[in-house]
Amino acid sequence: MEQEFQVNGTLIWYFYICKRQVWLMSHALTPDQDDENIQQGRTIHEYSYPRDKKELNLGNVKIDLVRSERGQLVIGEIKKSSRFLTSATRQLQYYLWQVEKMGVQARGELFIPEERQRLEVVLDEEAKKELLKVEEEIRDIVGQHLPPPAKKIKWCRPCAYAEFCWA
Ligand code: SF4
Repeated sequence: MEQEFQVNGTLIWYFYICKRQVWLMSHALTPDQDDENIQQGRTIHEYSYPRDKKELNLGNVKIDLVRSERGQLVIGEIKKSSRFLTSATRQLQYYLWQVEKMGVQARGELFIPEERQRLEVVLDEEAKKELLKVEEEIRDIVGQHLPPPAKKIKWCRPCAYAEFCWA
């Protein structure tokens, strides 16, 4: 039986950057794993915050970092830079929302080790409304037979799909 498509945090992240990438990712066109940016991202994840629990995988929720602070659960998303703050914020709000649906109350923080930044992320009603809309839009994109056309944006240069789109 074909598995039902599930939106996930990574697709929420890409949605705000490139809708074509949402389609490519969701159709299991895996980007080049040797890509410098992917490897660099992995290294930052592995070597930052060594004392914290890493990578909690709950189906479509893949949390980078979990810690307890003053009796409260903190779930964190680690990013290489603050360049795509809207994407990162929505992705983390999506995770907060999913764990809330599981009955878990948590606080969100974006960790940007290379910039020594830690930014609090709150899940409010506006964010839930926006994410509901985005989930629908992602389903629409994924349901198309072809990906949206490639559009040159700043993210194309470091994008792992660049060869696929622009070769
Ligand atoms: S190369 Fe550009 S157009 Fe292609 S998926 Fe990446 S960001 Fe989107």
